Amino acid sequence: MKVYGDYHTHTQNSDGKNTIDENVAAAQKRGLQQVAITDHAHYRPRNAQKRLEKALLLKAQTIKAGKVHGIETFYGVEANVKGTHGEIDVSNDERKIYDLVVCGIHASVPPKRWYEWFTFYLPNLFWYCLRRMLHVELTPKGRIRKNTRAVVNVIEKNNIDILAHPNRYFRLDVMEVAKACVARGTVMELNNKHISFRPIDFERMVAMGVKFVIDSDSHKAENVGRMDRVESFLKLCDYDSSCIINLSQPFARPKAALLSQIVEAAHGSDEVR
Ligand SMILES: [Zn+2]
Ligand SMILES: [Zn+2]
Repeated sequence: MKVYGDYHTHTQNSDGKNTIDENVAAAQKRGLQQVAITDHAHYRPRNAQKRLEKALLLKAQTIKAGKVHGIETFYGVEANVKGTHGEIDVSNDERKIYDLVVCGIHASVPPKRWYEWFTFYLPNLFWYCLRRMLHVELTPKGRIRKNTRAVVNVIEKNNIDILAHPNRYFRLDVMEVAKACVARGTVMELNNKHISFRPIDFERMVAMGVKFVIDSDSHKAENVGRMDRVESFLKLCDYDSSCIINLSQPFARPKAALLSQIVEAAHGSDEVR
């Protein structure tokens, strides 16, 4: 299986092991044409100004690594679902910094509103832990409905490029989420660490017109571009490869024009595209 790029990788700037340069070098070694650096949003500085400065610095490093290793790079972020009303931890203003935004639910990241600890986060954590311990599916339907609404709100209210590992931590109705993805042009992820739906669900989503992307979600450079688990999953599915964007062509994202202006002003126009 030949993929053009990997759009979800982590570095030392969140919980990954390697540097930006090492991830980019590994992507080039694996024969990819594109790679994205998408560290977790909750590892960034809390102060808004510092966060912006750091993002610009890391973006410049990502661009430089791309030039050094001769591969197209994207500087992105993995945002978190921060509540049930569509909140994420990347604002639309900040969004302009990133070439792409990957977003997902993480069991380790609590919601913004205190009361949603009790109405959203803790109940989900309970069902998640129980599922992991007993290996049985026990999440109540009402809970799944509420989670689905939360994720659909996130898709509708934000400019998200890729929905990361859908259904992995807190359970969702993936068909409902898929509808929202089609309507908003959000790409769903086939995550090499964990695919949390069945081949039949994948086939139904493809029939609905959902676009997918295969990502490694690597936390080590050696795993950048590693897609073996997705490859095994896809062997069980009947699908047309055109529904997976990095199987048919490189991922074409419009570059954030505003960002380029900010970076040019800060570092001189030579540093950026
Ligand atoms: Zn994630
Ligand atoms: Zn990730």
